[in-house]
Amino acid sequence: MSSAPTEFTDWDLDEAIASAIAGKGWTTPTEIQVEAIPIARQGRDVVGQARTGSGKTAAFGIPIIEKCEATGTPQAIILCPTRELAVQVAEEISWVQGDSGLAIQTVYGGTDIEKQAKELDAGADIIVGTPGRVIDMSKRGHLKLGNITHFCLDEADRMLDMGFFPDVLWIFDQMPAREQTLLFSATFPQEVLDAAEEFMHEPVFVMSDDLEVEVPEIDQFAVRIGRGNKLWVLGRLIANMDDNDQMLIFTNTKRMVELLEERLGKFGMKATGMHGDKAQNRREKILDSLRDGTTKIVVATDVAARGIDVDGITYVVNYDLPDDTESYVHRIGRTGRMGRSGQAWSLVSKEDIGALDKISNTWNLEIPYVEAPALPEGMTRDPVRKREDWSEVTDPFGMVNVSLEIGRGAATKRSLADWIVNEARIPEIALGEIAMEESSSTVQIHVDKAAYVIDVIKKREFDGSSLNPTIIGA
Ligand code: ADP
Ligand code: MG
Repeated sequence: MSSAPTEFTDWDLDEAIASAIAGKGWTTPTEIQVEAIPIARQGRDVVGQARTGSGKTAAFGIPIIEKCEATGTPQAIILCPTRELAVQVAEEISWVQGDSGLAIQTVYGGTDIEKQAKELDAGADIIVGTPGRVIDMSKRGHLKLGNITHFCLDEADRMLDMGFFPDVLWIFDQMPAREQTLLFSATFPQEVLDAAEEFMHEPVFVMSDDLEVEVPEIDQFAVRIGRGNKLWVLGRLIANMDDNDQMLIFTNTKRMVELLEERLGKFGMKATGMHGDKAQNRREKILDSLRDGTTKIVVATDVAARGIDVDGITYVVNYDLPDDTESYVHRIGRTGRMGRSGQAWSLVSKEDIGALDKISNTWNLEIPYVEAPALPEGMTRDPVRKREDWSEVTDPFGMVNVSLEIGRGAATKRSLADWIVNEARIPEIALGEIAMEESSSTVQIHVDKAAYVIDVIKKREFDGSSLNPTIIGA
C-alpha cells in the first residue's frame, strides 16, 4: 500500500462531483470520508462515527449523489433532527452534486405546507428533511417513499432516541425498496448501536477505537461558580471577546434561553435567543447573521444547535451543564470547526459538579477548573457585578457554616450561642449546631440571617477578642 494520503482524484468520482469539489478547493478527503466513502460506494450499510466538524455530510452525501439519477422520483432520503440541519445538509449536497442535475428538496416543518407540496409534486430526487413533515407529506400523497433505495440518518443517535424513533420507524416501514442504510453521528451510545443493528444489513462500522480522539481539540475550561454569579462570569467572557469572536451559549431549557437573552440585554450585551419554538424563518435568519458575522452572541438549546456548521464560533459556553454526556461533545463541537481554534467554558455550580465529573470520566477529558478570566486591559468595571452568593454555601436545611476563632479554651457552646443571640438580637432558632474544637468553632447560621450575623460578629468582641468569622463552603 502506498503511504501517500488519499486524494479525491484517486477515487474516480462522478465527473460532476469531482469538478464541484475541485472548484471548491477540496483536495484531500477527511478521515471519515477516506474510511466511509469507498465502503458506501460499494453499496454496503455504514455506521459512521467521527467527531464534530469532520466532514460527515460529504461522507454520506457523495455516495448518495452518485447513486441517484435525475428522474424526479425520490431515490434517497436523509433525515435530520432539526430544520436548520436539513437546510445545511441540503445546501452542502446541492453544491457537491455540481451539474449532476439532481433535484434536492428539503421537507421540514414550520414552513408553508402548500408551497412544499407543490415543489414535491414538481419532482425531487433526493429528500432532506425532518421526520414530522416527511410523514405529513407522505400521508398527503406528495412524497412517495416507495422507490427510495438510499436511507440516511444524520445525527443518528438523536434520530434513534425516544423522541424521534417512532417517526423514523414509520418512515422506514414505507420504504420496501430500500437497499442501503447509512447512519452518521459524532456519538453512538451502545443502546443506539443495538437498535441500529435491528434494521441494518451487515453494516460496516467506521468508528474510532479511541473515544478520546473523537472530542475535538478545543481548549476546555470549567469555572466553579454559584448559580447567582454565572452571569458575572459570562460578562467576563464576553468582555474578553475580540471583534472576530463569536459565542454560542447553551442552556438546558427554552425558558432559560429567553431569560438569559433578556438579562444580557439589560446589561448591555446583545445576544440572540434560538430555540425550537422560534419561527423557522427567524431561526434561519439568526444562523445567516451568525455566518455573515453580524450576530456575535447566540443563546440556544441543544436541539436548536445540533450539527450547526458555522465557522466563526470561537467560544462555546455551557451556562448550564447538559444532563447527558453526549450533548457536551455536540455542544463544544460547534467551535473549533475543521481544525480552527476554539474555547469551551463550562460554568459549574454546586448542582453541576456531578454532571461535569460524568462528562470528564466518560470521554476521558481533563477539564481544568480555572478562575473566571480577568477583565481585559483598560476595562475597570465588570459588565455584571459579582454578588454575594449564599446558594453555594447553604446546606439542604438552609444553614450556612461559619468558622469562628474561639474554642473550648475560652467559651462553651452555650456561652457562645447566648452571646451571638444577644449581640445580633436573633431568635435562637436561627442558630443550628455548634461544633467546638480547642481554639476554633463552627457555628451554623440560617441563610436569611447569615450576612447580618456575620457582620455583627465582625464588629464586636467576645471577651476582648475578635472572632474573625469566615464562611465555610457547604
Ligand atoms: P460534521 O457533520 O462532521 O460535523 P460537516 O459535514 O458539517 O461536519 O463539515 C464541516 C465543514 O468542513 C463544512 O464546512 C464542510 O464543507 C467542510 N469540509 C468537509 N469535508 C471537507 C474536505 N474534505 N475538505 C475541506 N473542507 C471540508
Ligand atoms: Mg454533521
